[in-house]
Amino acid sequence: MTWIRFRTQEMRLTFIISVGAVVVSCGGGGGTSSAPELPPPPVNVAPIVEAGSDLTVGEQTKVDLIGSASDSDGTISTYNWTQTSGIAVKLSGTDTAETSFDAPAASKQNILTFQLTATDNNGAATTDTVNVTVNSNPGSVLEKWEPSLISECTTDSNISPVLPLAQNFMTQDGQRVMEPSIIFIDQTFTFLLKAAPDAPSLSVDLLKFGGYGVVGVDDVSLVFDDGTHGDLVAGDGIFTRSCLYVLEESLAGNDFVHSSNLWALSTALRGTETADYIAQGVRVNDAGFFIELGDEYSNRLTNNWRLLNPEYCQACLRAWQLAGDIFDFFAMSTRDPVGGAGYVRVHDNILGTGFNPPCEPRSYCYSIIDGQEHQKLTGIIWMGWPGIGGLNHELGHGFLGVETRNFPADGARAWNAGDLFHLDSDITVTGELAGPFWDPVRGWPHAVQLENEAGERFETYLTEDVDGIFRLKALDDNNRIWDDILLYMMGLLPPEDVTKTYYKLFNPRLSDCITEELNTVCTNDLVTAEELIPFTVTDFIAQFGTRSVPPYLDPKRIQMGVLNISDRPHTEAEIVWLTKTYREFVTSSEAVGQFIDGTPWSWATKGLSTIEINAALHTSSN
Ligand SMILES: [Zn+2]
Repeated sequence: MTWIRFRTQEMRLTFIISVGAVVVSCGGGGGTSSAPELPPPPVNVAPIVEAGSDLTVGEQTKVDLIGSASDSDGTISTYNWTQTSGIAVKLSGTDTAETSFDAPAASKQNILTFQLTATDNNGAATTDTVNVTVNSNPGSVLEKWEPSLISECTTDSNISPVLPLAQNFMTQDGQRVMEPSIIFIDQTFTFLLKAAPDAPSLSVDLLKFGGYGVVGVDDVSLVFDDGTHGDLVAGDGIFTRSCLYVLEESLAGNDFVHSSNLWALSTALRGTETADYIAQGVRVNDAGFFIELGDEYSNRLTNNWRLLNPEYCQACLRAWQLAGDIFDFFAMSTRDPVGGAGYVRVHDNILGTGFNPPCEPRSYCYSIIDGQEHQKLTGIIWMGWPGIGGLNHELGHGFLGVETRNFPADGARAWNAGDLFHLDSDITVTGELAGPFWDPVRGWPHAVQLENEAGERFETYLTEDVDGIFRLKALDDNNRIWDDILLYMMGLLPPEDVTKTYYKLFNPRLSDCITEELNTVCTNDLVTAEELIPFTVTDFIAQFGTRSVPPYLDPKRIQMGVLNISDRPHTEAEIVWLTKTYREFVTSSEAVGQFIDGTPWSWATKGLSTIEINAALHTSSN
């Protein structure tokens, strides 16, 4: 923004000078006298500068800009490289003759222009420009591949094209890959296990106990490192078994079965979802983007920060290039289970919620991959799992939790005293940022269970029963709904609509409990405490200031870019599964869904907020 304004002023100044020059020229017509000529003052000769020959490069490659300059009557004092057009990139340096940058991912051909200015020791400057054409790389897009049907699988055929890639990143003993991890139930998958030569028999419990079948008559639990049964390289420590499948009866009439890191879908779902290519390596539908990252995807196993970090996020870049700067959040999902959902704060734009990002404008200081600010982007969610369990929780982190420390009182009396970014279970505020009620002495992961007269046990949460009496209640749908004070913080409820008084129970006490290794089991639901600390939304405002939601953020209609990432094109089963789960997450108004293992957003926000994920709506083919 600053840069554009500067350019405009510069152009206006140039225009005024030109007009002045024309006026002087016309007014001087007819003059005849001329002053005696004086010897010209010594003239400084401006330097000669070369920004280098124009280049054509592939996307995501390192590009060297080799500039040079010379001065016939002095020396070169400064060099200055700037980018004047094209997708913004980050130069390795700007004040030397030579510099470099990483060519951005490109869904189509892009031309980037750079300018080198050299200034001599008398202040004369000369510029030259160089164009760099960045081509999208056809080699990075793999052939579309579908896993073999059980009826057609032969043990050494139809091996997934990314198995060699996966093997490169299997370096730790015990590491397993199931390729693919989402199939139709009539399809097969390949199991890979990294293990020492004598160890695989100890590590194939997944196959033994997963209830899988295998094409052929062999024992399902056998894996091979001898170049057969799908094994690519004999003796490399990676044991393999191809042509595995999920037994049809395990579906038990359901739409899908999820067991041991594998999702198998009913064949009735085949043909129900599609996604269309809108650029090389990018497909879209009403539930998000399907983005082929090539080798970059392998970082999910070794360094997922590389995929997520706004400074490197290739999937984010693709979405911005194709849809524009419209996203409040990104949710990034892998096509196989990696684990470890997380949240990256990029901007916190709502004032008065306790967030105080360290950089202007309300930013967490990333140099975003394309050099732009992307003020709208609140954060990037890592799902790392082919399901939406935990997405509601991670969105909660986007609006709530951290920095609201020492509320309603200091230190251990705060509502997030545990780790400062999740809500403690000994408060009466509900929502997915709080876990079940933890043992007051042992804490996480020792949950308190309530045992009823029939001997059944339930995990619990804290509720106020009648005034000042607090009880444990079995976890139900209600404890996953964001409480009104949190809906206030999200910008969804005005403060006058938040009338509840909440409580922090400092040093809560239980009675009639036994302590087991993992859980604490109680038959009495009464909870007392050393101190009851009441709080209201008015107290919150008094501590953190008045909330102010910026005009470009509409918490009632959140724009989320769903980035389904993969090395190879997603298979049909992967598209079907990821589409149905995300669509249900944003459209369901019920607590429990048909496909999802987590809480739908609209339901959790009492219908006050919806999430827009339709990638097809915001992109057009190019
Ligand atoms: Zn969390």
